[in-house]
Amino acid sequence: MRLDVVSIFPDYFAPLQLSLVGKAIDKGIIDVAVHDLRDWTHDRHNTVDDTPYGGGAGMVMKPEPWGEALDALEGAAPQPMTIVVPTPAGRPFTQAMAYELAQRERLVFACGRYEGIDQRVIDHCAERYELVEVSLGDYVLNGGEVAALAVIEAVVRLLPGVVGNPASLVEESHSPEHRLLEYPNYTKPPVWRGREVPEILFSGHHAKIAEWRLEEARRRTAERRPDLLADPE
Ligand code: SAM
Repeated sequence: MRLDVVSIFPDYFAPLQLSLVGKAIDKGIIDVAVHDLRDWTHDRHNTVDDTPYGGGAGMVMKPEPWGEALDALEGAAPQPMTIVVPTPAGRPFTQAMAYELAQRERLVFACGRYEGIDQRVIDHCAERYELVEVSLGDYVLNGGEVAALAVIEAVVRLLPGVVGNPASLVEESHSPEHRLLEYPNYTKPPVWRGREVPEILFSGHHAKIAEWRLEEARRRTAERRPDLLADPE
């Protein structure tokens, strides 16, 4: 999979070199290119924003640098582009969306700042490419970078060869198989500060352990996220 990220803060993406995503780059599972939107400006100040038509607070990202950036990226690689635009007005990001995006050949992240990107860029993307407007949650960040990092991490770990044991993708919270929150996990020592590991986990009885874990997952989900049980996607 090829990932392109366009931002006015390309340094934000240094952590992509770390951990599992960094290893996925080293193994050639993903190819990541981070671009500075200002490279597609032509004035002395590398301007990417301007005042909003209609007045009001804040600035809006100008369409011209985005248009040039998208044209350049389209010509830079043959795979069809899926444009991912982080925005609080987008579809709430879910594990199901991560699985969906993991099927694509090329994701291009357009990271907004200020009050966001001129709507005509979004409309242009919807017409010319596949467009996914995605929200990280019902709150407002300063820019799309943190959201892009979150989406990249969630998507990349689903690609074959990234997570060491693929079984861990099936058992975890929000997996499409059961959409439950994961059961509680324990490791050594057996007693820590007077707190004991549940007895069943020492039994060696795999079927009973699986049953206990499923029960715990259901209990936790009912307690913390009843909406998941009520609305299985
Ligand atoms: N004026 C916008 C609004 O009210 O919807 C908020 C703009 S926000 C200050 C600047 C940028 O941060 C957005 O263009 C978007 O890229 C990103 N952003 C903010 N909150 C986000 C969220 N919840 N999910 C995804 N991206 C977000």
